[in-house]
Amino acid sequence: MLSRHQIMSRRLLLSVAGVTLLSATACGAPSTSKGDAGAGGAGGPGAAPSPGPVPPATTPSGPPAGTRAGSPPAVNVPSPALSSPAAERRISNPLYSLASHDKLVALTLDDGPDPTHTPAVLAILRKHGVRATFFLVGENAAEHPALVREIAQEGHHLANHTWTHPDLRNLPDAQVRDELERTSEVLQKATGKPLTWFRAPGGDFSSVTLRTCSELGMRPMGWSVDPRDWARPGTSKITTRVLEAIRPGSIVLNHDGGGDRSQTIAALQTYLPMLIDDGYQFTAPR
Ligand SMILES: [Zn+2]
Repeated sequence: MLSRHQIMSRRLLLSVAGVTLLSATACGAPSTSKGDAGAGGAGGPGAAPSPGPVPPATTPSGPPAGTRAGSPPAVNVPSPALSSPAAERRISNPLYSLASHDKLVALTLDDGPDPTHTPAVLAILRKHGVRATFFLVGENAAEHPALVREIAQEGHHLANHTWTHPDLRNLPDAQVRDELERTSEVLQKATGKPLTWFRAPGGDFSSVTLRTCSELGMRPMGWSVDPRDWARPGTSKITTRVLEAIRPGSIVLNHDGGGDRSQTIAALQTYLPMLIDDGYQFTAPR
């Protein structure tokens, strides 16, 4: 494993070179019908990712088309109401990074809640005073309502990651809406607050998905740093990938559900204090 100095030096070099790590896939297994959550959140790496080329996380690349243009401000944006006529809402592009030149970043955790791994993640975040955004799978949330409330009570943001974690691109429009709407209803029941953010499984935002997201009063969020933790490449790799890729404004993708996330948890325990020591602050965009 690289020393902290080596990691920071390598990260600095990458920052100087003006590159960032981006992956057009991820959020768990590339969009299979089950994705990385699977039924009851039991999928994950056990549900092997579909074959085909997937860019490694260590390959610097440019941001996906439309990454930053038109992105809403990262913070202090009022949350919209749950539902309103489509005509009243502008369909926005996904937010892939925060508009920050300071060492302000966002940590996002997908595919939970999970009765084993989510409490462990919450304990780490509590220890380091980090606020995160949890993109919850609706059927998992319905199964573990106390865990959903606990996430919210700890000051984290609840966000919508569909009901069953399907590839939304393969679904009829009405089913896309059902996936989003059911999840919003369950999460809002837990907190009494409207949701702000939605993330499509795999980050695969279709035009129908974006329109539906807007109609339900949410905005889409992607990510800019993906250590591909869902594939369980080893704690050291997850840690190194995050530390090398992160830069001011990054949105980091990790997973607390959808399979065995012990590597992710160990990586969080390692990289969070290192980043904080390096001057990074974490925010949950509103
Ligand atoms: Zn996911």
